[in-house]
Amino acid sequence: MEAINRLKYLSSQMTFEADAEHSVNLSAAEPCLREDDLHIHPAVMPNGRKTRLLKTLLTSACERNCYYCPFRAGRDFRRATCKPEEFAKLFMQLHRADLVDGLFISSGVAGGGIRTQEQLLDTTEILRNKMGFRGYIHLKIMPGAEKGQVLRGMQLADRVSVNLEAPNSKRLAQLAPKKVFMEELLRPLRWVEEIRRTERPPLQPWRFDYGKEKSSSAQRGRWPSSTTQFVAGGADESDLELLSTTARLYSNLHLARTYFMAFNPVPDTPMENKSPTPALRELRLYQASFLLRDYGFDLEELPFAGEGNLPLPTDPKEAWAEINLTHDPVEVNEASPRQLLRVPGIGPMTANRIVGARRICQIRDLSQLRKLGIAAQRAAPFILLGGKRMATQTRLF
Ligand code: SF4
Repeated sequence: MEAINRLKYLSSQMTFEADAEHSVNLSAAEPCLREDDLHIHPAVMPNGRKTRLLKTLLTSACERNCYYCPFRAGRDFRRATCKPEEFAKLFMQLHRADLVDGLFISSGVAGGGIRTQEQLLDTTEILRNKMGFRGYIHLKIMPGAEKGQVLRGMQLADRVSVNLEAPNSKRLAQLAPKKVFMEELLRPLRWVEEIRRTERPPLQPWRFDYGKEKSSSAQRGRWPSSTTQFVAGGADESDLELLSTTARLYSNLHLARTYFMAFNPVPDTPMENKSPTPALRELRLYQASFLLRDYGFDLEELPFAGEGNLPLPTDPKEAWAEINLTHDPVEVNEASPRQLLRVPGIGPMTANRIVGARRICQIRDLSQLRKLGIAAQRAAPFILLGGKRMATQTRLF
């Protein structure tokens, strides 16, 4: 197969990776643009800038046999591989043709985790040092990669990630019998944090261009952010298991985000007859993970039901507020930012806006909240304005 066709083929197979890799707002994600079968993903960077990422594998050959994965060893389908140099050349052609701005690169495991990581690093290194690519790169860390490779990846990429797939060793054994949770997956994520803590970030020329920011922190250099991904529902794990690991990853290893990919059975795999995970569960997991990361919630406060799962019909913040704020509403004119963040419809940005606005005048009605960008009707049952409860619309459903 010609090199460009191999790249198209590899890229077209990337639909199984969680979308919105760098999106800050899932609802803002646009449908994926397929430029002649390339998987080009529109994403929003933390600074609000839109970007187009080419998501691809370097090879779809894999010697591991994860039960859920379309690329597992022995599954009968056409595999393709690009060599680092040819991949880098093709990517730069796409970049120069203004089709892509950045790269999300992963790989099947071929010849061991260390060798596969070397191929990914070679590719990234050619792009950065030989071809002068200064755009965004998200680099996958392979299971079993060495610490020196993790460091090298962090010197080259803007984001690195390790897919944990499951929340603990026991659950991982149900999904990926050849992966070792602690040694192969969690340890590289720990190294990322250790390197961020103990080593000085390099001054790299492409960091100056990242997001067209020329802030002093960018010029001082900075280490990449880190993320992980779970296959939600693949190992019959509970939301509590997924979110307790998520909480530890946020607080101990400072992950930027945990991604949840709802399990979907792939034909001709050992899990082909397992029921898919409802998309709503994926959404609830994201909502709950944001409460842990951005809203000051502790794991124990999340409204888990008996089986350790979040209720599917209700947003977890709303479920918490119904129990805790219905009879003890928050006075918007006096509450701390932390208390405001507990109110459905108020987020980190709008909580700050409230604090700014009430320095000027008291907030007395919902229209003032609306002007500040707050979902006032959602907030209404749980707040007081000037000591008064607000009239709320009756919910039909
Ligand atoms: S190692 Fe990765 S690519 Fe290979 S079977 Fe497992 S999940 Fe799939």
